[in-house]
Amino acid sequence: MKPDRPLSRPVTRCRICGSSDLIEVLSLGSTPLANAFVDPSDPQADALRFPLAVLHCSVCALAQLSVVVSPEVLFRNYLYASSASRPLVEHFRSQARTLIDRFGKNVRYIEVGSNDGVLLRPLRGLGANALGVEPASNLAAAANEEGLRTVNAFFAPEVARAIRAEHGPAHVVVANNVLAHVDDVHALMRGLDALLDDDGVFVAEVPYVVDLIRNVEYDTIYHEHLSYFTARSLQALLASEGFALVDVEHIETHGGSIRVYAARRGRSPETRAVRAHLDEEAMTGIDRPDTYIRLADAVRRSRDALRSMIGRLTYSGERVVGLGATAKSTTLLNFCALGPADIAFIADSTPLKQGKLTPGTRIPIVPESALLADPAARYILLLAWNYADSILARSAALVERGSRFIHPIPMARLIP
Ligand code: ZN
Repeated sequence: MKPDRPLSRPVTRCRICGSSDLIEVLSLGSTPLANAFVDPSDPQADALRFPLAVLHCSVCALAQLSVVVSPEVLFRNYLYASSASRPLVEHFRSQARTLIDRFGKNVRYIEVGSNDGVLLRPLRGLGANALGVEPASNLAAAANEEGLRTVNAFFAPEVARAIRAEHGPAHVVVANNVLAHVDDVHALMRGLDALLDDDGVFVAEVPYVVDLIRNVEYDTIYHEHLSYFTARSLQALLASEGFALVDVEHIETHGGSIRVYAARRGRSPETRAVRAHLDEEAMTGIDRPDTYIRLADAVRRSRDALRSMIGRLTYSGERVVGLGATAKSTTLLNFCALGPADIAFIADSTPLKQGKLTPGTRIPIVPESALLADPAARYILLLAWNYADSILARSAALVERGSRFIHPIPMARLIP
Protein backbone atom coordinates (compact mmCIF):
# COMPACT_ATOMS: atom_id res chain seq x y z
CA MET A 1 0.00 0.00 0.00
CA LYS A 2 1.21 3.50 -0.81
CA PRO A 3 1.95 5.49 2.38
CA ASP A 4 -0.19 8.59 2.88
CA ARG A 5 1.40 11.80 1.66
CA PRO A 6 2.24 14.15 4.55
CA LEU A 7 -0.42 16.82 5.06
CA SER A 8 2.15 19.57 5.58
CA ARG A 9 5.87 20.16 5.79
CA PRO A 10 7.81 22.45 8.11
CA VAL A 11 9.79 25.25 6.46
CA THR A 12 13.45 24.92 7.41
CA ARG A 13 15.05 26.93 4.60
CA CYS A 14 14.09 30.28 3.12
CA ARG A 15 12.02 29.89 -0.04
CA ILE A 16 14.01 32.60 -1.84
CA CYS A 17 17.63 32.42 -0.68
CA GLY A 18 17.85 28.96 0.90
CA SER A 19 19.17 30.28 4.24
CA SER A 20 18.32 28.24 7.33
CA ASP A 21 18.65 31.35 9.49
CA LEU A 22 14.90 31.75 10.03
CA ILE A 23 13.45 33.26 13.23
CA GLU A 24 9.83 32.88 14.32
CA VAL A 25 8.48 36.42 14.78
CA LEU A 26 4.71 35.95 15.08
CA SER A 27 2.40 33.10 16.08
CA LEU A 28 -1.37 33.12 15.66
CA GLY A 29 -1.81 29.71 17.24
CA SER A 30 -3.05 26.63 15.45
CA THR A 31 -5.98 27.18 13.10
CA PRO A 32 -8.10 25.23 10.61
CA LEU A 33 -7.69 26.07 6.91
CA ALA A 34 -9.23 29.40 5.96
CA ASN A 35 -11.70 27.91 3.48
CA ALA A 36 -12.61 24.73 5.40
CA PHE A 37 -16.25 25.80 5.85
CA VAL A 38 -18.23 23.11 7.62
CA ASP A 39 -21.17 21.56 5.83
CA PRO A 40 -23.67 19.85 8.18
CA SER A 41 -23.19 16.67 6.09
CA ASP A 42 -19.41 16.74 6.69
CA PRO A 43 -18.94 17.87 10.31
CA GLN A 44 -15.22 16.99 10.26
CA ALA A 45 -14.38 19.47 7.48
CA ASP A 46 -12.48 21.76 9.87
CA ALA A 47 -10.88 19.01 11.97
CA LEU A 48 -7.37 19.54 10.56
CA ARG A 49 -5.42 22.29 12.24
CA PHE A 50 -2.01 23.64 11.36
CA PRO A 51 0.28 26.10 13.14
CA LEU A 52 -0.07 29.62 11.79
CA ALA A 53 3.28 31.29 12.43
CA VAL A 54 5.54 33.65 10.50
CA LEU A 55 9.30 33.19 10.09
CA HIS A 56 11.68 35.98 9.12
CA CYS A 57 14.75 35.26 6.98
CA SER A 58 17.86 36.99 8.29
CA VAL A 59 19.47 37.05 4.84
CA CYS A 60 16.86 38.23 2.30
CA ALA A 61 14.22 39.41 4.86
CA LEU A 62 11.40 37.34 3.36
CA ALA A 63 8.55 36.76 5.84
CA GLN A 64 7.10 33.29 5.31
CA LEU A 65 4.84 30.81 7.06
CA SER A 66 6.44 28.09 9.17
CA VAL A 67 4.55 25.28 7.42
CA VAL A 68 3.46 24.51 3.87
CA VAL A 69 0.15 22.65 3.79
CA SER A 70 -0.01 20.21 0.88
CA PRO A 71 -1.93 21.74 -2.06
CA GLU A 72 -4.25 18.71 -2.26
CA VAL A 73 -5.43 19.48 1.28
CA LEU A 74 -5.36 23.24 0.90
CA PHE A 75 -7.40 23.55 -2.27
CA ARG A 76 -9.86 20.75 -1.57
CA ASN A 77 -12.44 23.32 -0.49
CA TYR A 78 -11.56 26.18 -2.79
CA LEU A 79 -14.63 28.36 -3.23
CA TYR A 80 -13.07 31.52 -4.50
CA ALA A 81 -14.12 32.72 -7.96
CA SER A 82 -12.73 36.23 -8.47
CA SER A 83 -15.57 37.34 -10.75
CA ALA A 84 -17.99 36.96 -7.82
CA SER A 85 -16.37 39.98 -6.20
CA ARG A 86 -17.55 43.25 -7.74
CA PRO A 87 -14.61 45.32 -6.45
CA LEU A 88 -12.16 42.75 -7.90
CA VAL A 89 -13.91 42.79 -11.28
CA GLU A 90 -13.54 46.57 -11.34
CA HIS A 91 -9.92 46.33 -10.22
CA PHE A 92 -8.92 43.94 -13.01
CA ARG A 93 -10.83 45.95 -15.60
CA SER A 94 -8.63 48.85 -14.60
CA GLN A 95 -5.50 46.68 -14.70
CA ALA A 96 -6.40 45.57 -18.25
CA ARG A 97 -6.58 49.22 -19.34
CA THR A 98 -3.22 49.95 -17.67
CA LEU A 99 -1.60 46.97 -19.43
CA ILE A 100 -2.95 47.96 -22.85
CA ASP A 101 -1.84 51.58 -22.34
CA ARG A 102 1.64 50.36 -21.45
CA PHE A 103 2.22 47.47 -23.85
CA GLY A 104 -0.46 47.86 -26.55
CA LYS A 105 -2.89 45.21 -27.72
CA ASN A 106 -0.80 43.66 -30.47
CA VAL A 107 1.38 41.55 -28.17
CA ARG A 108 0.66 38.19 -26.57
CA TYR A 109 -0.53 38.29 -22.94
CA ILE A 110 -0.45 35.18 -20.80
CA GLU A 111 -1.91 35.17 -17.32
CA VAL A 112 -0.76 32.62 -14.76
CA GLY A 113 -3.44 31.80 -12.18
CA SER A 114 -6.15 33.30 -14.37
CA ASN A 115 -8.96 32.09 -12.08
CA ASP A 116 -12.30 32.33 -13.91
CA GLY A 117 -11.03 34.86 -16.46
CA VAL A 118 -11.48 38.01 -14.40
CA LEU A 119 -8.55 39.72 -16.22
CA LEU A 120 -8.70 37.75 -19.52
CA ARG A 121 -12.26 39.04 -20.07
CA PRO A 122 -11.46 42.80 -20.09
CA LEU A 123 -8.15 42.17 -21.91
CA ARG A 124 -10.04 40.42 -24.68
CA GLY A 125 -12.73 43.10 -24.56
CA LEU A 126 -10.01 45.64 -25.35
CA GLY A 127 -8.89 43.56 -28.34
CA ALA A 128 -5.79 41.89 -26.85
CA ASN A 129 -4.57 38.36 -27.50
CA ALA A 130 -4.77 36.78 -24.03
CA LEU A 131 -4.35 33.22 -22.81
CA GLY A 132 -4.82 31.95 -19.25
CA VAL A 133 -3.22 29.17 -17.23
CA GLU A 134 -5.27 27.98 -14.25
CA PRO A 135 -4.81 24.89 -12.02
CA ALA A 136 -8.40 24.72 -10.69
CA SER A 137 -10.29 22.67 -13.27
CA ASN A 138 -13.74 24.11 -12.43
CA LEU A 139 -12.48 27.69 -12.89
CA ALA A 140 -10.57 26.86 -16.12
CA ALA A 141 -13.67 25.12 -17.52
CA ALA A 142 -15.88 28.12 -16.70
CA ALA A 143 -13.44 30.45 -18.49
CA ASN A 144 -13.17 28.21 -21.57
CA GLU A 145 -16.94 27.89 -21.77
CA GLU A 146 -17.07 31.67 -21.98
CA GLY A 147 -14.51 31.63 -24.82
CA LEU A 148 -11.63 32.85 -22.63
CA ARG A 149 -8.89 30.43 -23.69
CA THR A 150 -7.42 28.82 -20.58
CA VAL A 151 -4.94 25.98 -20.21
CA ASN A 152 -5.90 23.83 -17.21
CA ALA A 153 -2.52 23.21 -15.60
CA PHE A 154 -0.38 24.03 -12.63
CA PHE A 155 2.19 26.46 -14.05
CA ALA A 156 5.65 24.88 -14.17
CA PRO A 157 8.67 25.04 -16.52
CA GLU A 158 7.49 22.09 -18.67
CA VAL A 159 3.99 23.60 -18.98
CA ALA A 160 5.56 26.94 -19.96
CA ARG A 161 7.66 25.23 -22.67
CA ALA A 162 4.61 23.42 -24.04
CA ILE A 163 2.61 26.67 -24.17
CA ARG A 164 5.46 28.45 -25.94
CA ALA A 165 5.75 25.62 -28.48
CA GLU A 166 2.05 25.81 -29.25
CA HIS A 167 1.33 29.54 -29.02
CA GLY A 168 4.72 31.26 -29.29
CA PRO A 169 6.49 33.36 -26.65
CA ALA A 170 4.61 35.84 -24.48
CA HIS A 171 5.52 39.50 -24.36
CA VAL A 172 3.67 40.06 -21.10
CA VAL A 173 3.13 37.42 -18.41
CA VAL A 174 0.81 38.48 -15.61
CA ALA A 175 0.48 36.76 -12.23
CA ASN A 176 -1.93 38.39 -9.82
CA ASN A 177 -1.97 37.11 -6.24
CA VAL A 178 -0.03 34.02 -7.28
CA LEU A 179 3.51 34.53 -5.93
CA ALA A 180 2.41 34.56 -2.30
CA HIS A 181 0.64 31.20 -2.77
CA VAL A 182 3.52 29.38 -4.47
CA ASP A 183 5.97 27.23 -2.52
CA ASP A 184 8.56 26.68 -5.25
CA VAL A 185 8.93 30.26 -6.43
CA HIS A 186 12.12 29.38 -8.32
CA ALA A 187 10.22 26.89 -10.52
CA LEU A 188 7.71 29.63 -11.25
CA MET A 189 10.54 31.96 -12.28
CA ARG A 190 12.05 29.26 -14.52
CA GLY A 191 8.65 28.82 -16.16
CA LEU A 192 8.56 32.54 -16.73
CA ASP A 193 12.03 32.42 -18.26
CA ALA A 194 10.84 29.69 -20.64
CA LEU A 195 7.73 31.60 -21.67
CA LEU A 196 8.79 35.24 -22.03
CA ASP A 197 10.37 36.67 -25.18
CA ASP A 198 13.75 38.42 -24.75
CA ASP A 199 12.21 41.85 -24.10
CA GLY A 200 9.22 40.43 -22.28
CA VAL A 201 7.82 41.84 -19.06
CA PHE A 202 6.52 40.05 -16.00
CA VAL A 203 3.73 41.86 -14.14
CA ALA A 204 2.69 40.64 -10.71
CA GLU A 205 0.42 41.88 -7.95
CA VAL A 206 1.25 40.78 -4.42
CA PRO A 207 -0.07 41.88 -1.03
CA TYR A 208 2.52 44.28 0.41
CA VAL A 209 3.74 43.24 3.83
CA VAL A 210 4.54 46.89 4.62
CA ASP A 211 0.78 47.59 4.62
CA LEU A 212 0.15 44.46 6.67
CA ILE A 213 2.58 45.72 9.32
CA ARG A 214 1.47 49.36 9.32
CA ASN A 215 -2.23 48.54 9.59
CA VAL A 216 -1.86 45.39 11.73
CA GLU A 217 -3.69 43.35 9.05
CA TYR A 218 -2.87 40.07 10.77
CA ASP A 219 -6.02 38.40 9.46
CA THR A 220 -4.53 38.43 5.94
CA ILE A 221 -2.15 35.76 7.27
CA TYR A 222 -3.51 32.27 6.51
CA HIS A 223 -2.18 28.99 5.21
CA GLU A 224 -2.73 29.80 1.52
CA HIS A 225 -0.42 32.82 1.85
CA LEU A 226 3.02 31.29 2.14
CA SER A 227 5.10 34.44 1.56
CA TYR A 228 4.74 38.12 2.58
CA PHE A 229 6.83 40.25 0.23
CA THR A 230 8.64 43.54 0.37
CA ALA A 231 10.16 45.15 -2.74
CA ARG A 232 13.52 44.01 -1.34
CA SER A 233 12.61 40.33 -1.02
CA LEU A 234 10.95 40.33 -4.45
CA GLN A 235 14.04 41.89 -5.93
CA ALA A 236 16.15 39.15 -4.33
CA LEU A 237 13.95 36.48 -5.91
CA LEU A 238 14.03 38.10 -9.36
CA ALA A 239 17.80 38.68 -9.26
CA SER A 240 18.45 35.03 -8.37
CA GLU A 241 16.85 34.02 -11.69
CA GLY A 242 18.39 36.67 -13.99
CA PHE A 243 15.53 39.17 -13.78
CA ALA A 244 15.36 42.71 -12.41
CA LEU A 245 12.63 44.71 -10.76
CA VAL A 246 11.97 47.67 -13.10
CA ASP A 247 8.86 49.35 -11.71
CA VAL A 248 6.62 49.28 -8.62
CA GLU A 249 3.15 50.77 -8.11
CA HIS A 250 1.31 50.81 -4.83
CA ILE A 251 -2.34 49.71 -5.15
CA GLU A 252 -5.26 49.33 -2.72
CA THR A 253 -6.19 45.65 -3.33
CA HIS A 254 -6.32 43.26 -0.34
CA GLY A 255 -5.55 45.93 2.26
CA GLY A 256 -2.58 47.24 0.24
CA SER A 257 -0.59 45.52 -2.49
CA ILE A 258 2.18 46.31 -4.94
CA ARG A 259 2.07 45.78 -8.68
CA VAL A 260 5.60 45.04 -9.83
CA TYR A 261 7.10 44.95 -13.31
CA ALA A 262 10.19 42.84 -13.99
CA ALA A 263 12.33 42.26 -17.07
CA ARG A 264 15.42 40.26 -17.92
CA ARG A 265 18.47 41.89 -16.34
CA GLY A 266 19.81 44.76 -18.44
CA ARG A 267 16.83 44.85 -20.81
CA SER A 268 14.83 47.68 -19.30
CA PRO A 269 15.77 50.73 -17.18
CA GLU A 270 14.77 50.80 -13.51
CA THR A 271 12.22 53.52 -12.66
CA ARG A 272 12.65 55.83 -9.69
CA ALA A 273 9.74 54.09 -7.98
CA VAL A 274 11.88 50.97 -7.45
CA ARG A 275 14.62 52.90 -5.65
CA ALA A 276 12.00 54.86 -3.68
CA HIS A 277 10.36 51.67 -2.37
CA LEU A 278 13.68 50.04 -1.52
CA ASP A 279 14.95 53.18 0.22
CA GLU A 280 11.77 53.62 2.22
CA GLU A 281 11.79 49.98 3.32
CA ALA A 282 15.42 50.33 4.42
CA MET A 283 14.90 53.69 6.14
CA THR A 284 11.90 52.57 8.16
CA GLY A 285 13.56 49.26 9.04
CA ILE A 286 10.34 47.57 8.02
CA ASP A 287 12.09 44.34 7.09
CA ARG A 288 14.03 43.91 10.35
CA PRO A 289 12.95 41.13 12.73
CA ASP A 290 12.22 43.56 15.60
CA THR A 291 9.59 45.24 13.40
CA TYR A 292 7.74 41.91 13.22
CA ILE A 293 8.11 41.40 16.96
CA ARG A 294 6.47 44.81 17.53
CA LEU A 295 3.77 43.70 15.08
CA ALA A 296 3.13 40.66 17.29
CA ASP A 297 2.47 43.02 20.25
CA ALA A 298 0.13 45.15 18.15
CA VAL A 299 -1.74 42.01 17.02
CA ARG A 300 -2.39 40.99 20.65
CA ARG A 301 -3.58 44.52 21.49
CA SER A 302 -5.88 44.44 18.47
CA ARG A 303 -7.35 41.10 19.56
CA ASP A 304 -7.89 42.34 23.14
CA ALA A 305 -9.62 45.51 21.92
CA LEU A 306 -12.00 43.57 19.67
CA ARG A 307 -12.79 40.97 22.32
CA SER A 308 -13.50 43.61 24.93
CA MET A 309 -15.74 45.66 22.59
CA ILE A 310 -17.79 42.61 21.62
CA GLY A 311 -17.84 41.42 25.24
CA ARG A 312 -19.22 44.79 26.44
CA LEU A 313 -21.90 44.77 23.75
CA THR A 314 -23.12 41.21 24.37
CA TYR A 315 -22.99 41.74 28.17
CA SER A 316 -25.34 44.68 27.81
CA GLY A 317 -27.74 42.52 25.79
CA GLU A 318 -26.81 43.66 22.27
CA ARG A 319 -26.78 41.18 19.40
CA VAL A 320 -23.54 41.16 17.42
CA VAL A 321 -23.47 39.60 13.94
CA GLY A 322 -20.84 39.49 11.19
CA LEU A 323 -20.65 40.38 7.51
CA GLY A 324 -18.39 38.45 5.10
CA ALA A 325 -17.36 34.83 5.71
CA THR A 326 -14.00 35.63 4.16
CA ALA A 327 -10.81 33.58 4.34
CA LYS A 328 -9.48 36.41 6.52
CA SER A 329 -12.34 35.90 8.97
CA THR A 330 -11.11 32.38 9.78
CA THR A 331 -7.83 33.77 11.10
CA LEU A 332 -9.49 36.62 12.95
CA LEU A 333 -12.29 34.59 14.58
CA ASN A 334 -10.00 31.73 15.60
CA PHE A 335 -7.23 33.97 16.92
CA CYS A 336 -9.74 36.10 18.86
CA ALA A 337 -11.67 32.96 19.97
CA LEU A 338 -15.02 34.39 18.86
CA GLY A 339 -17.80 31.81 18.44
CA PRO A 340 -21.60 31.70 18.14
CA ALA A 341 -21.99 33.02 21.72
CA ASP A 342 -20.26 36.24 20.58
CA ILE A 343 -21.36 36.48 16.93
CA ALA A 344 -24.90 35.17 16.31
CA PHE A 345 -24.41 34.64 12.57
CA ILE A 346 -22.30 35.81 9.62
CA ALA A 347 -24.03 37.08 6.50
CA ASP A 348 -22.36 36.32 3.17
CA SER A 349 -23.47 36.73 -0.44
CA THR A 350 -21.73 33.53 -1.69
CA PRO A 351 -24.41 30.82 -2.07
CA LEU A 352 -21.76 28.05 -1.62
CA LYS A 353 -20.99 29.31 1.89
CA GLN A 354 -24.57 29.83 3.05
CA GLY A 355 -25.88 27.08 5.33
CA LYS A 356 -22.33 26.19 6.41
CA LEU A 357 -20.42 26.98 9.61
CA THR A 358 -17.21 28.97 9.94
CA PRO A 359 -14.05 26.79 10.26
CA GLY A 360 -13.06 26.17 13.87
CA THR A 361 -15.48 28.69 15.37
CA ARG A 362 -18.73 27.16 14.07
CA ILE A 363 -20.69 30.35 13.48
CA PRO A 364 -23.66 29.84 11.10
CA ILE A 365 -23.36 31.52 7.67
CA VAL A 366 -26.59 32.98 6.27
CA PRO A 367 -27.62 35.04 3.21
CA GLU A 368 -27.10 38.81 3.41
CA SER A 369 -30.85 39.41 3.54
CA ALA A 370 -30.73 38.14 7.16
CA LEU A 371 -29.15 41.41 8.27
CA LEU A 372 -32.15 43.56 7.36
CA ALA A 373 -34.58 40.85 8.43
CA ASP A 374 -33.20 40.87 11.98
CA PRO A 375 -33.92 44.23 13.64
CA ALA A 376 -31.97 43.13 16.75
CA ALA A 377 -28.75 42.79 14.69
CA ARG A 378 -27.52 46.26 15.54
CA TYR A 379 -23.77 45.63 15.65
CA ILE A 380 -22.17 44.17 12.54
CA LEU A 381 -18.56 42.99 12.59
CA LEU A 382 -16.93 43.87 9.25
CA LEU A 383 -14.96 40.78 8.26
CA ALA A 384 -14.29 42.11 4.74
CA TRP A 385 -12.98 45.41 6.15
CA ASN A 386 -10.89 46.00 2.98
CA TYR A 387 -14.24 46.74 1.27
CA ALA A 388 -15.55 48.91 4.13
CA ASP A 389 -16.25 51.91 1.88
CA SER A 390 -18.30 50.01 -0.68
CA ILE A 391 -20.13 48.04 2.04
CA LEU A 392 -21.05 51.25 3.84
CA ALA A 393 -22.19 52.82 0.58
CA ARG A 394 -24.69 50.00 -0.04
CA SER A 395 -25.88 49.70 3.57
CA ALA A 396 -27.93 52.90 3.88
CA ALA A 397 -31.02 50.99 5.08
CA LEU A 398 -29.06 49.33 7.90
CA VAL A 399 -27.42 52.58 8.98
CA GLU A 400 -30.76 54.39 8.87
CA ARG A 401 -32.35 51.95 11.29
CA GLY A 402 -29.43 52.48 13.69
CA SER A 403 -27.08 49.60 12.90
CA ARG A 404 -23.38 50.22 13.33
CA PHE A 405 -20.35 48.42 11.94
CA ILE A 406 -17.40 47.21 14.01
CA HIS A 407 -14.20 47.75 12.01
CA PRO A 408 -11.73 45.31 13.60
CA ILE A 409 -8.43 46.47 12.03
CA PRO A 410 -6.06 47.80 13.28
CA MET A 411 -8.01 48.57 16.51
CA ALA A 412 -11.72 47.84 16.96
CA ARG A 413 -13.83 50.92 16.31
CA LEU A 414 -17.47 51.66 15.47
CA ILE A 415 -18.47 53.20 12.13
CA PRO A 416 -20.35 55.28 11.18
ZN1 ZN B 1 15.95 34.39 2.54
